[in-house]
Amino acid sequence: MADRDGLIWFDGEMVPWREAQVHVLTHTLHYGMGVFEGVRAYKTADRGTCIFRLQEHTDRLFRSAHIMNMKMPFDKDAINAAQCAVVRENNLEEAYLRPMVFLGSEGMGLRADNLRTHIIVAAWDWPSYMSPEARDKGIKVRCSSYTRHHVNISMTKAKANGQYINSMLALREALDSGCEEALMLDPEGYVAEGSGENVFIVRNGKIYTPELTSCLDGITRNTIFELAAELGVEVIEKRITRDEVYVADEAFFTGTAAEVLPIRELDGRTIGSGVRGPITTELQTRYFDQVKGRREQFPEWLSPVA
Ligand code: PMP
Repeated sequence: MADRDGLIWFDGEMVPWREAQVHVLTHTLHYGMGVFEGVRAYKTADRGTCIFRLQEHTDRLFRSAHIMNMKMPFDKDAINAAQCAVVRENNLEEAYLRPMVFLGSEGMGLRADNLRTHIIVAAWDWPSYMSPEARDKGIKVRCSSYTRHHVNISMTKAKANGQYINSMLALREALDSGCEEALMLDPEGYVAEGSGENVFIVRNGKIYTPELTSCLDGITRNTIFELAAELGVEVIEKRITRDEVYVADEAFFTGTAAEVLPIRELDGRTIGSGVRGPITTELQTRYFDQVKGRREQFPEWLSPVA
C-alpha cells in the first residue's frame, strides 16, 4: 500500500503518497485510540464521480471522535472538501476513501494529555470487497467464537481503530474454517453484526435487523431502511437469535465496502433456498442504482467531487 504514486491529504495538505508517514512512536499505533471511516465514491450516470452519503460519513467520524474524546483540529466542511479533493486529485473514477483520526507521537502513556490529533484522508481504487460471484450467489458465514463488543467495554457507537482487533480475529477464524465472513454475537448471545457489516434477515415478507446496541450505526443499513420503505416492506429492529437466521427466508450483510451481500449459508445451514432471495435482489439492485446515480431519488446522497 505504501509504495505507490498519488496524494494523501494529511493535516490540511496534499502530501505525496510515499511521504505520508508517521513516527514509530505514534500513540495510536501503540494503544489503538483512533477513529476512522470507510467511504466510497462511484462513477455516476450524469454527475461524474460522486461520494456516496459524504455528509453522513463525516458526521459519524465526528461523533466517533466525540465519543473517544478526541479533539478534531478541522471542521466538517474541511473534511468533506478533503475527501472530494483526494478523489479528484488522484484522478480516481471510483474509489474507497479512508479518513482516519489518530493521536501523534508527541508523547506516550495512557494519560494522553500532551498529544495532537492528526487526520489523514486517503483514497484508492478498491473495486470490490467480495467477488462478483459472492454478490450474486451469496457467501458462506459462520458464527464467531469471538463475542462482539460489550457496550460498556468498547464504545460501540464509535468506529474506532482498536475495535477492529475483534473483527480481525473473527474474520480470520471464519476464513480459516472455509467461510467467507463471520457473524458476531453480542455478549448476551444475540446477533450483532458481521466483522465489518450490518446484518439483515427476511422472514415472511418482513425484514429484521438487530437494534443499534452492539452494532455500528451503519450508513448502508440506513440506506436499506429507505429503500425497503419504497418497496413497502417493513424493517423491524429487534433482538435476533442465531437460529432465527438459520430459518430465515433470506439474509444479507450491508456495508460501504461489502455493499449489499447475500448470505447463503450460516453454520452449515442453508438459508432459504440457498440463492440470493427476491427481496435481497431487489434491494441490491436499488442500492447499486442509487450509488451509481441511475435513479432520481435521494439526489442529496451523491456529492460530486469535481
Ligand atoms: N459494522 C461494522 C463493524 C463496520 O465496520 C461497518 C463498516 N463501516 C459496518 C457495520 C457498516 O457500516 P457502513 O454501512 O456505514 O459502512
